[in-house]
Amino acid sequence: MFFSDSLNVNEQGHLTIGGCDTVVLAHKYGTPLYVMDETGIRNALREYKNSIEQNYESGGMVAYASKACSFKEIYRIVMQEGCAIDVVSGGELYTAMQVGFPAERIYFHGNNKTEDELKMAIKYGVGRIIVDNFNELYKLADITSKIGKKSNIYLRITPGIEAHTHEFIKTGQIDSKFGFTLENGDALKAIKTAVKLNSITLKGLHCHIGSQIFDEEPFVFAAQTMMDLIAQVRDTTGVTLTELNLGGGFGIRYTKDDKPISFGGNMHKVLKTLEERSVYHNLPKPFIIIEPGRSVVGPAGITLYTVGAVKDIPGVRTYVSIDGGMTDNPRYALYKAPYSVLIANKANQPADCKMTIAGRCCESGDLIQEDAMLQSCNSGDIMAVLATGAYNYSMSSNYNRITRPAVVMVNNGESRIVVKAESYEDIVRNDI
Ligand SMILES: *Cc1c(COP(=O)(O)O)cnc(C)c1O
Repeated sequence: MFFSDSLNVNEQGHLTIGGCDTVVLAHKYGTPLYVMDETGIRNALREYKNSIEQNYESGGMVAYASKACSFKEIYRIVMQEGCAIDVVSGGELYTAMQVGFPAERIYFHGNNKTEDELKMAIKYGVGRIIVDNFNELYKLADITSKIGKKSNIYLRITPGIEAHTHEFIKTGQIDSKFGFTLENGDALKAIKTAVKLNSITLKGLHCHIGSQIFDEEPFVFAAQTMMDLIAQVRDTTGVTLTELNLGGGFGIRYTKDDKPISFGGNMHKVLKTLEERSVYHNLPKPFIIIEPGRSVVGPAGITLYTVGAVKDIPGVRTYVSIDGGMTDNPRYALYKAPYSVLIANKANQPADCKMTIAGRCCESGDLIQEDAMLQSCNSGDIMAVLATGAYNYSMSSNYNRITRPAVVMVNNGESRIVVKAESYEDIVRNDI
């Protein structure tokens, strides 16, 4: 019935997550409420990890892309699973360090890292800094030579592949703010520059081709393209790069229209490609890093709301207002992201009402979904929006001075708060 193993319906017809009744959770902790299933997160990490361990003798690392959902407990879980993380800001790096995340298992990304962030990364001893552009390459070399501490880096390559959901473009995609362009020769130029710099060590290459991708083809093509580049680097510089980071971007099911994919199966094809390419070029098989974000936390999370006003405009549409909205989930307002929605206390009833779900911000565009099919509902019902574990909490805001909801972690019928709800005091904390 659902696209996530974390969800079910109990005898009362209530939606459950991780063995917990969502209606009970809503009453216990209040709404809006983010709920995440720990087992779902751990299982996703393990599926990726196993796919590498069982199929690829050169080994690799699963680096959870923590921008998808970042708070202390997530970093603890990832740490316990023996995985790595990728961070894209000083704030994410700081949060990870607060729980003692091993710095050598941190990959630091971003297209415009500040000098302070670079210094912080070097001070903590971050495993790999992924250098995005020439400005950053020289800035980092300068900082490391001044501090007298070498830094291990990757270069982010833009391989001319852009993939989103069911489409991808193979060539000509050079219009990106990220990375060194392959097509115009910048990539090779940057690699040649980096191998000559004394205060940094170029360990490998990185690429990230998009997000919410369902096809295996673009990943396979990226792996091929990057292996060909590694061969070209060896042939022109004599340097053999032995680490390859292929980024994230694996798609998840938001609605029934999204076709499920097997992350393990997808990885299998990518790893096979790396093997074939290494034989073809007579290169060692690289140590592989993948960076799934959305697919680790997305399906494991839901958001619970309480239904407020229901406004029917005959012949136009019916608006259902909830006690959250674009402040806790801006993805529909940003890019009309599709979601599956249901009434959690009527989960076993037919979804035969077409409703538009409106948030509580003073903003007409504050919608969670338009013309969604859900159970007939009244004020006081509990609404669940599914697959909100990724890019919801991490993208939340205090627009209209609305406080952020709590995050509750559930696990085999138990629940605990992992991020407290914000208070009004939090809202004015930095006001003078
Ligand atoms: C966002 C991002 C990811 C994760 O992408 P998902 O689509 O969430 O899997 C991985 N690597 C980099 C560099 C990213 O920016």
